[in-house]
Amino acid sequence: MTSFTFDFDSCDDLGAAACGFDAGWLLALLNGQVRLDTETAMRIYRTVPLFTLGRWADARCRVLHGNAIRTYVIDRNINYTNVCTARCTFCAFRRDGDEDDAYTLSAKQITTKISELSAIGGTQILMQGGMNPELPLSWYEELLAGIKAENPHIHIHAFSPPEFIEFVRFFDPPGTDLEAKLSYVFKRLMKAGLDSLPGGGGEIFALPVRRKIGLGKCTAEQWLTVMRVAHRLGMYTSATMMFGHIEGIADRIHHMGLVRQWQDRSINDFARYGGGRYKAFISWPFQRENTPLGRLPEWEPQAGEEFPGDVIAAGGHSDRFGKVVRMAGATEYLRTQAISRLYLDNVHSIGASWVTMGPHIGQVALSFGANDMGSVMMEENVVSAAGTTYCLTEQLICHLIRNAGFLPAQRNNVYNLLRVHDGPESPDLLVTDWSQQRARELAIEGRTETTPVEVTVSAGADRVAIQ
Ligand code: SF4
Repeated sequence: MTSFTFDFDSCDDLGAAACGFDAGWLLALLNGQVRLDTETAMRIYRTVPLFTLGRWADARCRVLHGNAIRTYVIDRNINYTNVCTARCTFCAFRRDGDEDDAYTLSAKQITTKISELSAIGGTQILMQGGMNPELPLSWYEELLAGIKAENPHIHIHAFSPPEFIEFVRFFDPPGTDLEAKLSYVFKRLMKAGLDSLPGGGGEIFALPVRRKIGLGKCTAEQWLTVMRVAHRLGMYTSATMMFGHIEGIADRIHHMGLVRQWQDRSINDFARYGGGRYKAFISWPFQRENTPLGRLPEWEPQAGEEFPGDVIAAGGHSDRFGKVVRMAGATEYLRTQAISRLYLDNVHSIGASWVTMGPHIGQVALSFGANDMGSVMMEENVVSAAGTTYCLTEQLICHLIRNAGFLPAQRNNVYNLLRVHDGPESPDLLVTDWSQQRARELAIEGRTETTPVEVTVSAGADRVAIQ
């Protein structure tokens, strides 16, 4: 998998010695010759200065992905229902079935959205919903088959491990154990048109955290088991992590550790039979607006006090655990993403999270280990419900990647390059008036009327505040 070999300049060990690390060990790490252990990952997280850590993650990224190209995909998030049996405390999207603004999209509404996506050169949909007990298996099969009949070229990247766990509960499929039941549902949905499985619902795997924030949602083991079954059946999937709430730093590394461990298992057990694996890891900070979890007070450390999540993650006890949040800003985000690049040595792609962090931090993330800017965002409902409302066109996403020092390239779901924008016909290079590149209003399901939007254009990327 390695594309390049990294070497230090004669007088620059990327700060290894200054940070107390052996330069030879760091060189081996950056070239994928040694594996980062959990203890060392924690030490790096806590002690290495941000920009030094960024240089390490960037060097590792360049070994895997080269110096030239960074990618994006054109897809559309479609949230087919907001009715959900779970009550995650970080969620502002879910509704009970009898609430006024509960919705389930019709097949016609969904295919119309896909036609709009096709019109701008889109290649895939990311379709996820709440866990709606009213929808039978046949509803999903008919939906997928209908999408494929009208749009055979569109890759359907849909559902998530928590949805699959609830599918098993709702549909009661045949099978003697969870894996067999999951396989049955997977095969039915794959036959109807499901192409791959996104990594939604990962949040933080550590049980104490999950118990507090993911009410009614599957356990980490169930989440990982769904992915294992998907891999066994030949699917590519992704893994995610939502951090910056009640968890400890060690919980983040533990989360990455489970992804790495189960990825090893999938590769070892299934790769030679055409099995799948995690193609990407994407992490983002918790967005607090309109959520129960977000109403918790921000942690204000007293002298000598450790964050309660760190105490719990270290095996201690804290009465304050789950009662305060430690929100993550840009530096925490970049640090966490950089560690994920160094730690997840068996996951090829690390995605920048501009949807939550904003386009310009997303751009900086390309120098902190990310090789992919993710998707042009035509529509987003889940994170937007918690207050995040960024929106980019293809021209803008290309502009951001190019200004960060890379060639933008459109990719497909399995990270194959579709178009490398190295000529004058590139989407961003055709723009003659950037003032016209205004942000579009994000499509938000459940809104009954057109709501005015306040648009601020700043240096080629836009922020849209939905009022
Ligand atoms: S995050 Fe997903 S599973 Fe949890 S309540 Fe919201 S819609 Fe339901």
